[in-house]
Amino acid sequence: MNIPRTSFPRIVIIGGGFAGVALAKKLSKQEVQVVLLDRNNYHTFQPLLYQVSTGGLEPDSIAYPIRKILKDFPNFYFRLANVEEIDTIKNKVITNIGNLNFDYLVVASGSTTNFFGNADVEKYSMAMKTIPQSLNLRSLILENFEDALLTSDLNERNALMNFVIVGGGPTGVELAGALAEIKKGILPKDYPDLDTRLAQIHIIQSSDCILKGMSENASKKAEDFLEKLGVNIWKNVRVTNYDGETVTTNTDLTFKTATLVWAAGVKGATIKGLDAEEFISRGNRILVNEFNQVKGFNHVFAIGDIACLVSDEFPNGFPMMAQPAIQQGDQLGDNILKFIEEKPMTPFSYKDKGAMATIGRNKAVVDLKNWKFQGVFAWYVWMFVHLFFLIGFRNRMVVFVNWVYNYVRFDREARLIIRPFKKHSRKRK
Ligand SMILES: Cc1cc2nc3c(=O)[nH]c(=O)nc-3n(C[C@H](O)[C@H](O)[C@H](O)COP(=O)(O)OP(=O)(O)OC[C@H]3O[C@@H](n4cnc5c(N)ncnc54)[C@H](O)[C@@H]3O)c2cc1C
Repeated sequence: MNIPRTSFPRIVIIGGGFAGVALAKKLSKQEVQVVLLDRNNYHTFQPLLYQVSTGGLEPDSIAYPIRKILKDFPNFYFRLANVEEIDTIKNKVITNIGNLNFDYLVVASGSTTNFFGNADVEKYSMAMKTIPQSLNLRSLILENFEDALLTSDLNERNALMNFVIVGGGPTGVELAGALAEIKKGILPKDYPDLDTRLAQIHIIQSSDCILKGMSENASKKAEDFLEKLGVNIWKNVRVTNYDGETVTTNTDLTFKTATLVWAAGVKGATIKGLDAEEFISRGNRILVNEFNQVKGFNHVFAIGDIACLVSDEFPNGFPMMAQPAIQQGDQLGDNILKFIEEKPMTPFSYKDKGAMATIGRNKAVVDLKNWKFQGVFAWYVWMFVHLFFLIGFRNRMVVFVNWVYNYVRFDREARLIIRPFKKHSRKRK
């Protein structure tokens, strides 16, 4: 990999997401050599992926080059590499561009979509975990409407304009809200010769409420907002299969649709070598102690979505969200330095800053520790927080300008089929 060995200890970080970047920043000016490996050369701001899928933002505005984040840091190396295996006996990582030895290893590989072992759903549904996946979804949504114009078969047309989202968490709710706004504000103008009122948006949720991790008020209000936007919410319904045309459920309900979006869960993105049963907990996450050390090792750590740190308050580990990832990366920066200097490390404690979701224009729900609110003010808070956490001044400006433009013009300019998406089951003419 062409990385010189120096007298400084080498810390290899796998993953330039929220956790990996927070850690690298913390270590940047210290007497350590930091090597960050990621299969992408950019950091993705995942909370805004749904806006890329629905044409509200261009992908460049929610991605940021990893090299640029850390450009001024000495002793820092980035390599574009897919880590295939971790050898904890020889202390090396095996990647598609070669092997690399480490003194300390931090796994910050995040999570991946959990299809719960359903191969058909995995094959035919759309995931929204990466920028390429979001662009695929954007293309598919637009291609469906182009196809709907061409067919005279009413059932086929309805299926093309039927959008089924599985999972009523923040991702499902935000995507459904954005699709409902497109249906109302954009489709009638773009497709005057198509009866876009027939377009349907469904959320299927296996439990008895949406936004399950949030307060009851937030859940009820979000449901109310979505229903006013015309979204159909099916609670206590579990999807059992999707063959590319029909969604079946554990009830009598079935849905004919050309688009099933799977937002029903994620699982840890484990890597061979640390994926044995002894290391893994619920949700395919790597078990760590209060210092984020992987069970059985002093010099191997895991942070962010991939790490499962069990505590009394969080028996299944911290929520797979940006804040725990950032806080763990930040704290591990201090702890690794302490460990190298043979000083006692500080146990990780999570400062819960709350949760929020937006349902659309002027509609959001925010749960802070001591204050829960919904509506227009919540929407402003949601926008401010997302702008604040975006990396890069340019990205913040671009997103802000886009949001103002979309708000004033009731528009979403990025409804472009740049890279057509071919779905396995599609019979395009
Ligand atoms: C659609 C969506 C919406 C979300 N909305 C919110 C929200 O509103 N609020 C919130 O707090 N959280 C939200 N989240 C969750 C949040 O984005 C994650 O919790 C957070 O990204 C976790 O950070 P991380 O650093 O652990 O992992 P990630 O940010 O996923 O980063 C992992 C990195 O590791 C790299 N990688 C993985 N495996 C390998 C490998 N083998 N080799 C090389 N590189 C590898 C990946 O390319 C990636 O860059 C959302 C997630 C999604 C998908």
